Amino acid sequence: MAPKDQESAKRSCFFCAVQGDHLEVCKHCENVSFCSGEHQKIHRSENGPCHLFTVATAEGQGRFLVANRDISPGETVFVDAPLVIGPANKSPAACLECFRLPSLLSRDSDRCPECGLPVCHDCQARWNGSSSAKSFHQMECRLFKETFERISPAHRQRIFESIDVADDKRPCALYASLSALRLLKSKAECPQVWNDHVENLMDHEEERKKDQTTWMLSHMLVVSFLRGACRITFSADDIQRAIGIMRTNGVKLDTRSGQASGIGLYPTFSLLNHNCQCNTRTKKNADGNSSIELVATMEIPKGHEISTRYATPQWGTIRRQQMLQSHWYFACRCARCLDPTECGTMLNAVKCWECSSTGYLLPIDPLNIGSQWRCQGCQTEFAAARVIEIILKIETRIEKELSLPSVEQAQYLKVMEILEAKYLHPNHFLLVLLKEKLIQSLIWHQKQPNTSPAARLSYLKGQIKWFEHIHDLMKVVDPPGDMWTDTLHKMRLEHENLSSSMNGDEH
Ligand SMILES: [Zn+2]
Ligand SMILES: [Zn+2]
Ligand SMILES: [Zn+2]
Ligand SMILES: [Zn+2]
Ligand SMILES: [Zn+2]
Ligand SMILES: [Zn+2]
Repeated sequence: MAPKDQESAKRSCFFCAVQGDHLEVCKHCENVSFCSGEHQKIHRSENGPCHLFTVATAEGQGRFLVANRDISPGETVFVDAPLVIGPANKSPAACLECFRLPSLLSRDSDRCPECGLPVCHDCQARWNGSSSAKSFHQMECRLFKETFERISPAHRQRIFESIDVADDKRPCALYASLSALRLLKSKAECPQVWNDHVENLMDHEEERKKDQTTWMLSHMLVVSFLRGACRITFSADDIQRAIGIMRTNGVKLDTRSGQASGIGLYPTFSLLNHNCQCNTRTKKNADGNSSIELVATMEIPKGHEISTRYATPQWGTIRRQQMLQSHWYFACRCARCLDPTECGTMLNAVKCWECSSTGYLLPIDPLNIGSQWRCQGCQTEFAAARVIEIILKIETRIEKELSLPSVEQAQYLKVMEILEAKYLHPNHFLLVLLKEKLIQSLIWHQKQPNTSPAARLSYLKGQIKWFEHIHDLMKVVDPPGDMWTDTLHKMRLEHENLSSSMNGDEH
């Protein structure tokens, strides 16, 4: 940035872009100005450190984040606490604070003393222990208490029957409304925060309406329930918008064993755009308190966009685009997505069935899921539907034959051999997926109590061998790929330790 631009950047608030003489420059970093104490807090909490972003806007692109100074790999860009957290889609009747699974809850001690809904005794103790502990259930507790007192005994009984089944797999209808309800409550409680952080978020209402079944279901389960039985005063549009905001911007929380999955709405994180080759990684649960820490993985020069990713890098373009387009309604245009060969890795390439399998098919327009596929060898073109059919068949087969970790290595090798010989490029993402499953299986075998030390060592050796394949591909499509290299180093170190401890035993 030229010095003059720098000066003008400092003359507008880093968050809301408001200009004026009342702006204050951050005295800690001198990189940003803010218009108010509220916006100062977004830049820096009381004890710091300063966050490294400025909010930018561009025509047709909405708001996004750029670096407010040169950022080095490993630096924390920001730490973001959730505005609200709530049960994920199709959640069972888990603890409403910590999402402990229904099967681990007792019907007596793990119920909220006020409304009777599931709150585990540990979370209740936390409420009682500290008045400052943030409780999300308190946002809805009174509303449900009053609702349960008002509705007919038969209706109440139906609700509690669905909660008391203690089935970890069964979605509880009442839970479908909770994330949206909490978001709406936060609007009533802190309108300023809502204005700053939620008002401009996308809800993709138009696109969601096209899926009539899901739209009607959310209308019945959430809108009718909240406005009818619970008598909340928000309009049907407000409620649908809250559902859409949570669905579009909600981030899956880090789930530990014994927990149902939850989602959180992160005010700053939700301003990040997606890029398959993003320049950051996300550390969830940074403070043991559902916060997200965003860490740079490469140099981000001042003024450059900061990005994250919503789709797994192990997936090929067809699967990533399908995910991004069906859930977030946009086509990623990053370098990897635009290149049909995915940076030369051929992660997406399928064997041609015309030129006796010397050529590989790639999509002509990788951003378009319905695009024709063309053979690099004989140049024949094929409809997308035929390629997708093959992919789906293979996925079904993998699911059916190789879903249990106890499956033997030979079984994986057999399937991999057939897929490579007949259908897929050796680097195809379904083979990456298979290798990941094989590694999981080897870990399972390694950990069985009756496994001898020698066998354990050979299982570990196998894991390293297969992970090396994945690592080499990911280094190319997911630069700089330090995370992959770190994992590989850890595996090699474990192998070294195990083999030296075995040698030690012999002497
Ligand atoms: Zn401001
Ligand atoms: Zn600062
Ligand atoms: Zn709990
Ligand atoms: Zn309660
Ligand atoms: Zn992309
Ligand atoms: Zn061909």
